[in-house]
Amino acid sequence: MGHRMNIERRDFLKSLGLLGATTAVGTTAMAHPRDVRAAVKTRARIVIVGGGAGGITAAAKLNKWLDGAQITIVEPRETHWYQPGWVFVAAGVHDAAWTTATPNADYIPRGVRWVKDSVAGFEPEANKVLTQGGETLEYDYLIVATGLKLDYAAIEGLTRDMLGRDGLVSVYAGPDQAAAMWTEMQSFIQKGGDGLFTLPHTPLKCAGAPLKMGFLTESHARNAKRREALNLTFNSSIDKLFSVKPINDLADRLFRERGFTMNYQHRLKAVDAERKEAVFATPEGDKTLHYDFLHIVPPMTAPDVVKHSALAWKEGPFAAGGWLEVDKHTLQHLRFPNVFGVGDVNGTPIGKTAASVKFQAPIAAENLVSLIEDKPMDRKYDGYTSCPLITEVGKAALVEFGYDLKLIQTFPLVDQTVPRWAWWALDLYAIKPLYEQMLKGRIPA
Ligand SMILES: Cc1cc2nc3c(=O)[nH]c(=O)nc-3n(C[C@H](O)[C@H](O)[C@H](O)COP(=O)(O)OP(=O)(O)OC[C@H]3O[C@@H](n4cnc5c(N)ncnc54)[C@H](O)[C@@H]3O)c2cc1C
Repeated sequence: MGHRMNIERRDFLKSLGLLGATTAVGTTAMAHPRDVRAAVKTRARIVIVGGGAGGITAAAKLNKWLDGAQITIVEPRETHWYQPGWVFVAAGVHDAAWTTATPNADYIPRGVRWVKDSVAGFEPEANKVLTQGGETLEYDYLIVATGLKLDYAAIEGLTRDMLGRDGLVSVYAGPDQAAAMWTEMQSFIQKGGDGLFTLPHTPLKCAGAPLKMGFLTESHARNAKRREALNLTFNSSIDKLFSVKPINDLADRLFRERGFTMNYQHRLKAVDAERKEAVFATPEGDKTLHYDFLHIVPPMTAPDVVKHSALAWKEGPFAAGGWLEVDKHTLQHLRFPNVFGVGDVNGTPIGKTAASVKFQAPIAAENLVSLIEDKPMDRKYDGYTSCPLITEVGKAALVEFGYDLKLIQTFPLVDQTVPRWAWWALDLYAIKPLYEQMLKGRIPA
């Protein structure tokens, strides 16, 4: 075991050596052409709605590449959420503060105006947004980066405040609920019983996280020698676990090897917290399962303010969720050319990760600058997304792919889909510092 770990650690160090040359999860040694060119002079008014991963990164890029622009970010929250870290909080590796300790003020670039408010309405025909507090912000260019809505209310009998106690948990709900999940997980492992894990039927951010939480619970139970006290079931709303077939097959195989019952086309529709029962819609009708521990991954949609605006898709596969109607390559709105989208809110086939934001934010920003310059928009997003798929405590597969759903190998010397300590360590130690560099606009794409 120790010998194996040493080999993996050596592999990891080799891999990190390659990190300097990679364009995927790491930074490149080469500067982006715009970073070395003189900034474009303009008086353009740019409003960015949402100051999460996408909004802050786009602001950092535009702030560098433009000279004289008035850039405004609208973001109500004081503290930045490093959401990928919540998985480590829920698994007892870090406390909640590790993911949230940074005030947003540290990331908002100097010279960018921060309106600490929420946007309550979009009026793209008039080039303005309205805030909750009653301010009207007029713009020449708009970037929508609001992230998405976790629709817990779509599950009958469930409200958000029920999460984090009595065996009802969700790593997605926020840093405190992630911390509560760790407490609940330990209690479940100690007492034993029925553990249910869910995957929704809608697009979701970090499609690996629902799987990670199943694997981590099982792994902790095994390490505590309590595995036989647990009856674990994974319930996917659809006919698969993951969009890329080799990763889907890997996850399904590992779950079965570890004694999970696998249910497909089981969509969580209701929770009865008193009776500790979860109701699933299945092709054969409703099915009720008892739980002692229920990990809920809710359906996800665009935030209501986007969904009910002129900016949302009105037909096609992204209309039901009210996702932002953008061209999947240029990230420009299909009906309002001075509007761009970055991050989870985009109605694109895939791309709801921070790793996608790393590419989307500079591409949208660069295309916006090209529009200001009246030049062709030649930057295209290829759907790149990535997620270290944690398969047990101390091991992960490194999964990267694009719109074509073909796996990408950033580290050519090793098969990234084989779970190893190196990818766990990359996720735990390297991704957060890289993410922070991304927010500061220091990672070219
Ligand atoms: C549990 C979990 C694990 C994850 N793991 C990974 C991972 O391993 N790898 C990975 O790459 N990604 C991962 N992600 C996904 C990643 O965090 C998101 O894809 C990323 O944060 C998306 O950035 P965004 O800017 O679109 O949205 P966010 O970062 O969510 O930011 C949206 C911002 O918009 C603001 N906002 C919302 N509505 C309004 C409004 N009306 N007006 C003004 N502001 C508004 C919000 O306050 C928020 O700050 C994970 C996410 C979760 C929850």
